[in-house]
Amino acid sequence: MTIRKFQTKANFLIKRFFNTSKMANSKFEYVREFENEDKIMPNCWVVVRIDGKGFHKFSKLHNFDKPNDVRALELMNYAAIDVMNEFRDIVISFGQSDEYSFVFHKGALLYNRRHSKILTYVNSLFSSSYVFNWSQFFPSEKLQYPPSFDARIILYPSDENLKDYLSWRQADVHINNLYNTTFWNLILKGGLTNNEAEKRLSGTLSSDKNEILFSEFGINYNNESPMFRKGTILLRKKVKNPNNNGRYNCVIYPFFEDLIQNKFWKTHTEIFDYKSAVPTYDPTEKLPDIVEQQLRELDRKSQKT
Ligand code: ATP
Ligand code: ATP
Ligand code: MG
Ligand code: MG
Repeated sequence: MTIRKFQTKANFLIKRFFNTSKMANSKFEYVREFENEDKIMPNCWVVVRIDGKGFHKFSKLHNFDKPNDVRALELMNYAAIDVMNEFRDIVISFGQSDEYSFVFHKGALLYNRRHSKILTYVNSLFSSSYVFNWSQFFPSEKLQYPPSFDARIILYPSDENLKDYLSWRQADVHINNLYNTTFWNLILKGGLTNNEAEKRLSGTLSSDKNEILFSEFGINYNNESPMFRKGTILLRKKVKNPNNNGRYNCVIYPFFEDLIQNKFWKTHTEIFDYKSAVPTYDPTEKLPDIVEQQLRELDRKSQKT
């Protein structure tokens, strides 16, 4: 046993001894019995979904670009990466607008699967990272008040349920984004008021919105940014680090793929088999900024040690 390990163990034992002896002597201890046992069902996928409180107002106050503010989406992604770096049992995350879903592998045993521990740690780390990193993404926009997020845990017993859950969230991105893109083009380029745009779109089908975008504004919806159309999928991958003699490092990598199709699940099999090694990924495109930043941080840390 190294000295460091010995110290940790000794500290733990001392702390436990004093805690238990203090508790045993206290006549107040019975109040603990009022706490609920909140262990979540074993062998189910654990999804934690957070969503910004009143972000309609928050986005207006902080001058988000409409319909999609890239800075805000990237800040959400950055905070989600912090969460994934802290909680290694998360195998996939999915973000859009002011929400993020974090999927813990069904075999995860963290905190003895205590519902409140998992939910509150994820939510508070996400919220504090969002605030902590705000100025990096919004250098010229002062944060006007501390934002907050609601959070829930949903359990899915089968792999199929989990795929359908994520497909549901991605389908939601499509519906909302097609609507919002058409709505804001009608206002910003078409000169309509909010009410007029709303009326114009009421009862329209997807094909009608595509047609309005194309014929009135020359926009082919399929050429809009994939992050806007598909949301962001975060996965663990090993990528070649150009600054580290081309060695491979583990990072959290953003994908903007269609996860409703089976091809996605056949490509990223590590989501189900999470004890397997992190797979390597050799992208054909340039590394995303958010990945380069992680690599720089890893380099900095390795230089320190
Ligand atoms: P856990 O994650 O299980 O809560 P923990 O390290 O946070 O672990 P706690 O039992 O919550 O453990 O105890 C908090 C510890 O933080 C204290 O034991 C003390 O060492 C430290 N601490 C908290 N607040 C102060 C403070 N105001 N001044 C000095 N130390 C503090
Ligand atoms: P609630 O507290 O019930 O969640 P909310 O106002 O946050 O209310 P949501 O349904 O969560 O409502 O919608 C979030 C809203 O935040 C969107 O409708 C949009 O106006 C705004 N928003 C979030 N992210 C962005 C972004 N990246 N760019 C532009 N607007 C955004
Ligand atoms: Mg919200
Ligand atoms: Mg929302």
